[in-house]
Amino acid sequence: MPPVFRFAPSPNGYLHLGHAYSALLNFDLARRKGGRFLLRIEDIDATRCRPEFEAAIYQDLAWLGISWETPVRRQSEYFANYRDALEKLAGLGLIYPSFESRAEIARLVAQRETEAPWPRDPDGAALYPGAAKLLSPDQREELIGQGAPYALRLDMAAALARAGELGWKEHGEGPDGETGSVTGRPEAWGDVILARKETPTSYHLSVVIDDALQGVTDVVRGQDLFWSTSVHLLLQHLLGIPQPAYRHHRLVADSSGQKLSKSTDATGLRELRRQGATPADIRRLVDLPERLP
Ligand code: GLU
Repeated sequence: MPPVFRFAPSPNGYLHLGHAYSALLNFDLARRKGGRFLLRIEDIDATRCRPEFEAAIYQDLAWLGISWETPVRRQSEYFANYRDALEKLAGLGLIYPSFESRAEIARLVAQRETEAPWPRDPDGAALYPGAAKLLSPDQREELIGQGAPYALRLDMAAALARAGELGWKEHGEGPDGETGSVTGRPEAWGDVILARKETPTSYHLSVVIDDALQGVTDVVRGQDLFWSTSVHLLLQHLLGIPQPAYRHHRLVADSSGQKLSKSTDATGLRELRRQGATPADIRRLVDLPERLP
């Protein structure tokens, strides 16, 4: 079976040099290994994703000389798949709804922090400080019945008890140089959110389901997602789906060494193209060899 690579951008802004590097790296690896290359549109967040950004993704990638299989999987068309997975996790007793607003959570964290620093996840967000796990089934039903907003969280302690230690063989390098056998640290995310009332899935859940449903064998993505892989391994284990090989690549920085963001025009592919850059220039700018013949 040929290896299957993918590039999975979110259409919430225009692509920049960092995306170009990731997309080209995946595309080149697929070609070099006689594999397949898929493009997936990660558009579950209806408030931030826009059709014009999705159209721009297709244009920018085609301009770079990348081609992909069609039809393209757009996550917003597959909520039923994610719901099935949530139901499976619910059946295992591993998820629960929490009802605190972001402001309430911030207040709870501030309260805890009067005593000692409260732990943060690898993205820097405070771990869930609430006690919604202790609500009774009746209390949950009542709040949901009243139309209260909620988030569905993974009961991390229960999930870890079920899964035991997990790890992966890193084919690239983590942000602190981690390479080779890496021990997963899903607990670093606390009771991570897997879905919300208004968005019945999350990045973590959809990415894992889609990689499995699309038969992705090789996940090649930025080091900023290195520690997310821990959560993905845990979900794969709980849901009984295969674990692809992982490779986390360096991040492209701007000239001042800062991480690129979708809002900075200077490194946006459209802006560079407007200024006359060619696809070969983009490859040079991200330190990739010329396109394979
Ligand atoms: N959609 C994610 C992003 O744009 C990437 C997901 C992944 O490669 O796992 O950051």
